[in-house]
Amino acid sequence: MAPRKLAAGNWKMNGDLAALAEIDLLREAYPDPGCEVLICPPALLVHPMKERVGAHKMTVGGQDCHANASGAHTGDISAVQLKDAGAAYVILGHSERRADHGETDADVAAKAAAAHGAGLIAIICVGETEAQRDADETLAVIGAQLAGSLPDGASAANTVIAYEPVWAIGTGRTPTNEQIAEVHAFMREQLQGRVSDAGDVALLYGGSVKPGNATEIFAIAHVDGALVGGASLKAADFGGIISALEAAG
Ligand code: PEP
Repeated sequence: MAPRKLAAGNWKMNGDLAALAEIDLLREAYPDPGCEVLICPPALLVHPMKERVGAHKMTVGGQDCHANASGAHTGDISAVQLKDAGAAYVILGHSERRADHGETDADVAAKAAAAHGAGLIAIICVGETEAQRDADETLAVIGAQLAGSLPDGASAANTVIAYEPVWAIGTGRTPTNEQIAEVHAFMREQLQGRVSDAGDVALLYGGSVKPGNATEIFAIAHVDGALVGGASLKAADFGGIISALEAAG
C-alpha cells in the first residue's frame, strides 16, 4: 500500500447550512476524484454534509473529539458520536486547539486512541511556532509532538500526520520547499519503529496552501496531500488544490 493521497479541508468555525452548496459544486466538478477528498466542517454540519455528499466518495470529518465515548462532558463530542453522524476522519491536535484549549500531546494521544476505537481515521497535527523555528528547534519540537501524540496501535490505515507550522496557518506565508522537505523526511524517519507500516502513513502539509502553490508543494518528497483551511471554504479554490493533487505523481 502507498500512502493515501488526501486533500483535506478544515472549515474551522466557518460555514452554515447554506454553505453546503459548496459540496454540490465539488461533486459536479469532481464526480470521481483521483485522490481522497475530505471536508471537516463544524460538528453541527457533519451529518447534513454527509447527507449532501450522498453516494459520492468524498468523506466528512470532525475537527476534534473527546477521549471518552460518552458521559458528563458538557459541550464536548465523542468519536463515537462523530462516527454515528457520518464522519470518517477527525482532525486532532490542531495548533488552534493546542493554543485555545491547552491541549497537550498526551490529550491528543488519548483522543486519537478514542478515534481509532470508534473506527475513525485520526489526522494528528504537529508544527512549530515561529519562535521555535527561529531558535532552530523545529525538528526537536516535531519529534517530541509526534512521540507524545501518537497512540499505540497507530497505522497507515487509521492515522494521517499533518505538518502545520503555526506561523504559516492563515498568514499567507509558507516554509521554503527545502524546509517542508526536511520536516517531512524527518517525520517519515521518526515514524519508523513507532508504526509498523511507517512508509505508508500519509503525511500532509498544511499552512496557507492555495491553488497557486499546491503543485509545487505536492512535488516535494513525502508530501502526500494537504490540510487546507481558508482555501477549503470555496469549491473553486479547494478544487484547484484537488486538481493539483490528482496531477501529482
Ligand atoms: C489550518 O488551519 O489547518 C490551515 C492550514 O489553515 P490555512 O490553510 O488557512 O493556512
